[in-house]
Parts: sequence; C-alpha cells; structure tokens
Amino acid sequence: MEQINHHLNDSLLMGYASGNLPEAFSLVVATHISLCDECRARLASFDAVGGALIDDGSTIEMDEESLAATFALIANSPAEPKREAPTKDTVFPSPLQGYVGGDLDKVRWRALGGGVKQAVLNTSSKATVRLLQIPAGAAMPDHGHRGTELTLVLKGAFRDEDGRFGRGDIEIANEDLHHTPVAEDGEDCICLAATDAPLRFRRLIPRMAQPFLGI
Ligand code: ZN
Ligand code: ZN
Repeated sequence: MEQINHHLNDSLLMGYASGNLPEAFSLVVATHISLCDECRARLASFDAVGGALIDDGSTIEMDEESLAATFALIANSPAEPKREAPTKDTVFPSPLQGYVGGDLDKVRWRALGGGVKQAVLNTSSKATVRLLQIPAGAAMPDHGHRGTELTLVLKGAFRDEDGRFGRGDIEIANEDLHHTPVAEDGEDCICLAATDAPLRFRRLIPRMAQPFLGI
C-alpha cells in the first residue's frame, strides 16, 4: 500500500458521491479512491448520507451531461472502486484502465516538447483529463489556474510549492496556487491531471503553444 499524504477534500468526495462532478474529475477521484483506504472510507460515509437523503424523498438534480458521465463511469469501472490487488507490474488502477484500454503500454503518447508527453483521455466536454509523463528531473512550465486542477501521481514523484507528491497523492490546485511541478530525479513521473479551465502560463512560449496543446 502506498504512503499517501495528500488526499481528496470533502467537496470532491461529496460531488463524486452525488454524481455532480464532470466525468474528467470523477475519473481522477475514482482512481485516487482505488489507491487510498482513507478516502474510500470517507466516501462510504458520504454514500450513507446520500442514501438517507434519497430515502427522505428528496431528489438530487443532475444535468444531462453529468448523468451521462456517471453512467459512463459505472460502465467503465466498479461502482465502488475496490482496493487494488498489489500486482507489481500494474501502474494504472482499474478505473483508469477502463479509459486507457489497458495499462501503461496501451497509452498513445504525444510529445509536448522538453521530453514531456501527454495523452488526452476521452471524456465529456465539461473538463478535460490527460496522462502526463515528465522526464526525471524535468520541470513543467510554471503556471497558474483559472479553475480547478486535480493532479494524481501514478508513478515516480514531483515536488512543487505545496510539497512532495508520490504515487497515490493528489494535488488540488485552484486560482490561489501558482506552481512549477518538478519531477524527482531517478524516475519519470506519470500523472493523471484534470482541469476545468485553461491554465494560466506566465511565460510566452507555453502561452503561444497552448492552443495547439489543448492544456
Ligand atoms: Zn486519500
Ligand atoms: Zn497546475
């Protein structure tokens, strides 16, 4: 089991339990939960509360897109992500394998420059989610955020202004955080990153490339 130090917050868990997150965010949450006993237990308590609300006769409003996204997630993964059997060779937990069509060897990477590679996964349009591979010791362009960015580490580790993030750790970034993630030496860092708004790049070159990269 991973030593996880950075977890989901209550609003993400509640949004996930009620089916109100964009599909891209639901995938990141489901993937974290399948690696993290602590958040799985917290989710179970939110599910219990949600069940009680439904028993009460009240309804939870969902728009069509989040409903479709929720059904897609149910189709792609177990409703309650289970703890992974510790297979040494598996990098992707099962919710993510459903989107990739397998493990790491099935990813169709595209070069982003500077050795960084990405693979955008297919989800509903409200938010986007991509796999990122950052070479050991390399930095991502420094950037801020217009909305929420969730970054879940699957392999290796990175450091930024908020600390160290290793496998299973999730960083929740918003408008207040400006950061420069740097992959640790020794191993390439592979992350699952979801955003609901374009990033805010400080330097000109990444800003110019932005429309082509879709970040
Ligand atoms: Zn957790
Ligand atoms: Zn960021």
